[in-house]
Amino acid sequence: MEKDILEIFKCELLGLEEKGILRHLPAVIHQGEEIRFGRKRMLNLSSNDYLGLATDISLREEFLQSLTPDNLLFTSSSSRLLTGNFNIYTELENQLSRMFGSESALVFNSGYHMNTGILPAICNSGTLILADKLVHASLIDGIRLSGAKYFRYHHADYNHLDKLLEMHSKSFERIIIVTESIFSMDGDVTDLHHLVRLKQKYSNVLLYVDEAHAVGIRGEQGLGCAEEQGCIPDIDFLTGTFGKALASVGGYIICRKVIRDYLINKMRTLIFTTALPPINLMWSKFVMERLNSFSNKRKHLKENSSFLKERIIEKGYNCPSESHIIPLMIGDNKKAILKAEDMWRKGFYMLPVRPPTVPEGTARIRISLTANITREIVNQIADSI
Ligand SMILES: *Cc1c(COP(=O)(O)O)cnc(C)c1O
Repeated sequence: MEKDILEIFKCELLGLEEKGILRHLPAVIHQGEEIRFGRKRMLNLSSNDYLGLATDISLREEFLQSLTPDNLLFTSSSSRLLTGNFNIYTELENQLSRMFGSESALVFNSGYHMNTGILPAICNSGTLILADKLVHASLIDGIRLSGAKYFRYHHADYNHLDKLLEMHSKSFERIIIVTESIFSMDGDVTDLHHLVRLKQKYSNVLLYVDEAHAVGIRGEQGLGCAEEQGCIPDIDFLTGTFGKALASVGGYIICRKVIRDYLINKMRTLIFTTALPPINLMWSKFVMERLNSFSNKRKHLKENSSFLKERIIEKGYNCPSESHIIPLMIGDNKKAILKAEDMWRKGFYMLPVRPPTVPEGTARIRISLTANITREIVNQIADSI
């Protein structure tokens, strides 16, 4: 019996391999901004270290100075609801509230915990979720776990969303619009103002925005697209992760105090897990304290991103990007793989993204620029395409 089940697993894996979509864990060796596979060294253009903070040795050296065996805690040994709520949690959350000018903030173990925990906590049987068609898997999982009824509107199609709102606003107690601010596969940016306007037409609509790819790199202070577009207070659930540009680990929400209190009581992925170790919170706080000072990095990243996009368009590719995430649209799956391999040979590590991650016929290579890549290198990337 047991053997048969294992055989079934094996067959399924073979099926994936035949289709060329078997996943594995790549054995990578990091050398600063470069990545090594066996003997091959390549510039890492697939990292989420958008500000280059994760490879910044001097930043780490400075942080190390503040550590002693007393405050260097590698575990919190408990959920925050029990004894895991170390003072550093309050310090980081107060700092987030201050920076965003919000009533409150709450920190989670990861962006994945955040999205799979908040949505189930805030939905009831009278809730409808309207989510952009391209939202991240963690949001999809949160929507499914919530058990709420949901529709996905065509990507960035605010007219479609408007129609859905109009059609359903009277039959549901509450409606939650769910989106990201920068989308991870197209690199395009959500018009948050438009969503705020739509939301404000109704008294029972709330707005949930995930800034995973935008926090750290957008806005004058690096607080994300909501800062850049001047609508932080209009977003009910303003969330992000520390795992990308902020070079740490964890997730956060910026919200009103009543929402924070509610989540502390209802959110299972906050209540039933060991809190992140205090050392990680100390590092997140250390980075947040310096976020304002990275505006040159943000400016440089923005300029290089526009420049690479222009060069890619010059070469005849269509490019939807409005950010540092720049897809090279290929279309055909196999061609995308060949193109990626060609770029590896030229020393640039970038990954092909194929269906079902992206729509059929839109296979692409996803380039993510970081702030420590020079203009000269960006030119070399473009020349190699
Ligand atoms: C990466 C990502 C997450 C998950 O965040 P982690 O901190 O890595 O768990 C959530 N939402 C979006 C849009 C992401 O891109």
